[in-house]
Amino acid sequence: MESPADLPALHASHSGCWLRNPRGTRGVGKGEAIMAAADTPLLMLNAPLVANRLGYPDLSGLDLLELYAFIHPARFVVPTPKGLAAVLDLPEPATDDAVPGFLQAAAERLLATTQADDWAEREGAWMAVEALARLRWPWAGLLAGRIRKPERAERWLFSRLPEWEEAPERPQPAQVLLDDAQVTARLAQLTGSGAEERPAQKAYARDAAATFAPRRAQRQPHVLLAQAGTGTGKTLGYLAPAALWAEQSGGTVWVSTYTKALQRQLRHESRRAFPPLRDGKPTVVVRKGRENYLCLLNLEDALQGGFQGRAAILAQLVARWAAYSQDGDMIGGDLPGWLGTLFRKRGIAALTDQRGECVYAGCPHYRKCFIERAARASASAELVIANHALVMVNAARGRDVAQRPTRIVFDEGHHVFDAADSTFSAELSGAEAIELRRWVIGPEGKSRGRRRGLAARLADVASYDDQGSEAITAARDAAEALPGEGWLARVIEGNPLGPVEELLAATRALVLSRDESGGQEAGYGLETEIALLDGPYIEVAGRAQEALADLRRPLVKLGLRLEALVEDGPDWLDGPARARIEGARSAIQWRCDLVASWERLLARLGGPADADYVDWLALERSEGREWDVALHRHFLDPMKPFAETVLAPAHGVMLTSATLCDRSSPDGPDWDGAIGRSGVQYLEVAPRLFSAESPFDFARQAEVLIVTDVPKGDVGALAAAYARLIAAAGGGALGLFTAIRRLRAVYGRIADRLAREGLPLYAQHVDPIDTGTLVDIFRDDPRASLLGTDALRDGVDVPGDSLRLVVMEQVPWPKPSILHRARRLAAQAAGGGSGQALDDRIIRARLAQAFGRLIRSADDRGHFVVLSAAFPSRLLSAFPQGTPVRRVTLDVALQTIAASVSAGAAASPVVLPDERPQDESIR
Ligand code: SF4
Repeated sequence: MESPADLPALHASHSGCWLRNPRGTRGVGKGEAIMAAADTPLLMLNAPLVANRLGYPDLSGLDLLELYAFIHPARFVVPTPKGLAAVLDLPEPATDDAVPGFLQAAAERLLATTQADDWAEREGAWMAVEALARLRWPWAGLLAGRIRKPERAERWLFSRLPEWEEAPERPQPAQVLLDDAQVTARLAQLTGSGAEERPAQKAYARDAAATFAPRRAQRQPHVLLAQAGTGTGKTLGYLAPAALWAEQSGGTVWVSTYTKALQRQLRHESRRAFPPLRDGKPTVVVRKGRENYLCLLNLEDALQGGFQGRAAILAQLVARWAAYSQDGDMIGGDLPGWLGTLFRKRGIAALTDQRGECVYAGCPHYRKCFIERAARASASAELVIANHALVMVNAARGRDVAQRPTRIVFDEGHHVFDAADSTFSAELSGAEAIELRRWVIGPEGKSRGRRRGLAARLADVASYDDQGSEAITAARDAAEALPGEGWLARVIEGNPLGPVEELLAATRALVLSRDESGGQEAGYGLETEIALLDGPYIEVAGRAQEALADLRRPLVKLGLRLEALVEDGPDWLDGPARARIEGARSAIQWRCDLVASWERLLARLGGPADADYVDWLALERSEGREWDVALHRHFLDPMKPFAETVLAPAHGVMLTSATLCDRSSPDGPDWDGAIGRSGVQYLEVAPRLFSAESPFDFARQAEVLIVTDVPKGDVGALAAAYARLIAAAGGGALGLFTAIRRLRAVYGRIADRLAREGLPLYAQHVDPIDTGTLVDIFRDDPRASLLGTDALRDGVDVPGDSLRLVVMEQVPWPKPSILHRARRLAAQAAGGGSGQALDDRIIRARLAQAFGRLIRSADDRGHFVVLSAAFPSRLLSAFPQGTPVRRVTLDVALQTIAASVSAGAAASPVVLPDERPQDESIR
């Protein structure tokens, strides 16, 4: 049996490459490393990352991460030598040149696991390795001789998964009033007897409890707006009354987050507040959009030849994971985020139900389906953890009215406006329209996979019901008017096919004709407002509108026929067929709403503008490449539909965040703005208000340094500043950028140099690693630093020493879009003053969120650096009260940070005596 110790191993980082063979380990050049990998399969860790470091994309080998995914599916590991060493209980390699030897030891340890009697994930492994051997997976040969053949035939994934059970409808929740003493006692029980006394948390919990009181009138929910600084203990503060209410009333509380990081944290913390099971059913359920979950039918199709080559290997590893997964969540659940990135292309997305092709009860795996299981589990759960978009979509068009959320806590409440903005918008784009065509017609041309059109999905209806059959044929014919394969090339070349492609071509031409950028790539698409359109454009839009109406009419008719069928209940309509038809009905209704929203958008083109909406045309492109053409419609104030859809039917709603209110002055929170952004004014509800300052000592724990001598627009100087700041802090830096282009330029200039100093640098949009895994890597290594854009500004929760420096490349101005300009004008009209106030509020919110990454606990210390000479003083109130702020030169910033690091992380402002004259102390 071949031993891993005999296999050559390769490690590549920004500081060099190391190859280990029987003669020992030595540093080699990139060329030699590439040649060696081409000659024989080498042991390596994260092949795409190694390929990226070598600048040779086609690299492959024996990737230890693939082996780990096979041996321990659904188990967490940080995909670095350090992370692997921790889970395998091996010594961490201290230097780069020790990594190849470590890879051999790690392979040995993993392969040995397969022979241990207590290998927890043995079931299914033998069959999987047989299948993987047929696919020529490099590890299959090494595993085949080690995994013993089971004595009895093993259960295959689809028989191994448990079936969900249909539960009776729940009665409506009892009306209860939570008692202050009970809430305080439950909070004390959750925080534990040794916990420090936190009066603000107690007050917060009592106010949160008030939102669960019986509603006094229709459309008058209890609303609480609660701003609570980091460290108040918000999560347990609302979970305590939520758990009490759920227990006493028999109802369900929904907690909604914006980031996956908080969702993960909530899943963990809710274990303290809720028992794992009640009457044998889970009390806490995480709910996400369908597109997050594995679709078993797609997986079966992939395993049976739908996927080829490397994608087929991925399908086998996903099947291993599915058998051990907690809930089948592929995006942010227990499927390692790095698994998909090992296999290029969009393998993971193709295994989810992205495009609504689910056939519900017509699916052989319906009773084991992860999505259906989550939906049923949430109906009987006490706590549902969801995200803002899902809560809003569910409130707007949830399949079951009884399951719509009525008691909702929006954590990360400062993002509710943005989530409502995208949920309640309409977008008629090439990409959306071709998706609709595929949904109606089914696959065309060379497309593979199991997707089927409406006619195939409803073949039994068509054969039973003539009118239904006619409607299906009419919808299919009308869908031919939508863009088809190759639409973008035809639109760009000026050869559009059909009325909707003609509209897209005319839109593109109009946007380009009005472009004022002179062809400059600003990092985002081109836009023009829907105003002063000429006659020919309006005629083209009119033809597209007619074509859409021709499609909607038969869809509406088909929906009505399906409704009649369910009510008539013919003989062949058994339970599963009924469920499938109800599923189809709701999918058709959703498409009818979509097409109707497009028609409304087109109908407005020739007429006067509607003051409630902002409409514009866009050519979407990035890095010089066009990828879509679209007509957009957004609510000027998306909280108006939010109030109608989410607030009005609810009984209690809480919006909470550390940054709910603007801090336009140091005197305290601006409640008027927060109330205006909650939607309560549309229902004339007076919200309850709560605010608590963070208990952290910011004067001692943090300092803001505004660096005044890095010239704007000089990427070389920006890169040098980043490199020196990261080196001064000894890593542990989070670099935030407003443009991907600049992020890449800075990363390209400094990554090698920092690596040579033992300071690894990772970057979003550069490293072939998903964002969640990048944060895991950053958190795990105090010497690592991470560069990124918006998603990192408030999706990162890294308490402790791993994050001690945040660097913002410039003031985070809002994107100067048509939508922003309209809201700026509206704010100006409503409140007088200049539109600048809106910009300032947005910037302060972004600064506050970014600053919030730095100090996560009472022991954290750190510096927040903004590289902007022109940082306006009016924005300084964004930082928490008491935080010292200084304008300094880069040299002073470097000395301050280095002194703080060497003083043992004492980040109290260190002002060097000889630097005082250069500093302008501004707070
Ligand atoms: S029920 Fe739908 S989503 Fe679930 S496995 Fe079947 S086709 Fe996929």
